Amino acid sequence: MVGVKAIGWTFSPREWERWVEEKRESLYRARQIWHWIWKKGVYNPAQMSDVPLSIRTALDSEVFFPMLELVRSQESRDGTRKFLWALPEGGKVETVWIPHQNRYTVCISSQVGCSLNCRFCATGQLGLERQLKGYEILLQVYAVKHLLGLPITNVVFMGMGEPLLNYSAVIEAVEGLTQRMGFSGKRLTISTVGIPKAIQRLAERSEPFELAFSLHSAIPEKRRALIPLAAHISLEELQTALGLYCEKRNEWITLEYVLLEDINDQEADAEALREFIKPPLRAKVNLIEYNPVPELPFRGSRRIKDFQQALLKRRIITTIRRSRGADIAAACGQLSRRF
Ligand code: SF4
Repeated sequence: MVGVKAIGWTFSPREWERWVEEKRESLYRARQIWHWIWKKGVYNPAQMSDVPLSIRTALDSEVFFPMLELVRSQESRDGTRKFLWALPEGGKVETVWIPHQNRYTVCISSQVGCSLNCRFCATGQLGLERQLKGYEILLQVYAVKHLLGLPITNVVFMGMGEPLLNYSAVIEAVEGLTQRMGFSGKRLTISTVGIPKAIQRLAERSEPFELAFSLHSAIPEKRRALIPLAAHISLEELQTALGLYCEKRNEWITLEYVLLEDINDQEADAEALREFIKPPLRAKVNLIEYNPVPELPFRGSRRIKDFQQALLKRRIITTIRRSRGADIAAACGQLSRRF
């Protein structure tokens, strides 16, 4: 449990300035502290060697920098690494680091567990324990970069939880990633199974980030069988919200599509996808290899190349995302805190 001190991760540059002003110190000290924390990855005041002792002592007594605690880690044959963290405010989540050629992606969690119970997803089986705070989401990236010293080029909100059901914390984390940690918004992807109101709110925002929507089937009854939430939110509603998003932000989105054998990998499925992607919605499709979860009945489709061809034939830009880290249950839909 976090104590009564202020949480240093949440301070904006202006708040640091106010804090040093209260101490009758030069504003320059605020920039120094900021530089130590966000550029050098040093948050222990004792190590801020060019900051005067009086400020370090005040930092120590007034500001708190709760950190994630690494409980376990695992490395896949393909180099993917999975980390289980104990969170400052309780509960545990996983973060995955995926190296691929010159791209290093961190997949972060936004909730402890998830309430949506998508049928093919291990996290969904856990239920929702709690929402992460914005700084707890951000700290997953900070810890991988500064504590573990791993390079990061991209960040995806595709770990445990539905990011848009924890909207304000996710926005706080996006701001932290761009304004504090220096990531380009073009390298941040928020992934959602589809919360129309939150998509509309994202459409109004001006800062850059990418949006991925987990469609998995454009045939309503099939999608309902995979994603219980789809019983309450129609594909038309989602099409409208996503179209508005593309229009307002003048952007394309990615449709995530886990290809499941005999479920969503036929010609009729490709045709439904074509019908779903109509202006103002502009989207490319990312076909995802399914990673088996032992207690779930699904199998990955062997028709992934054929399905890609079926979409390309319909002039839909389509890529295939190969499974990474499946041997350590670090791949998409496998995160369930089992190590
Ligand atoms: S796929 Fe995403 S939204 Fe669905 S249960 Fe898993 S974590 Fe939750």
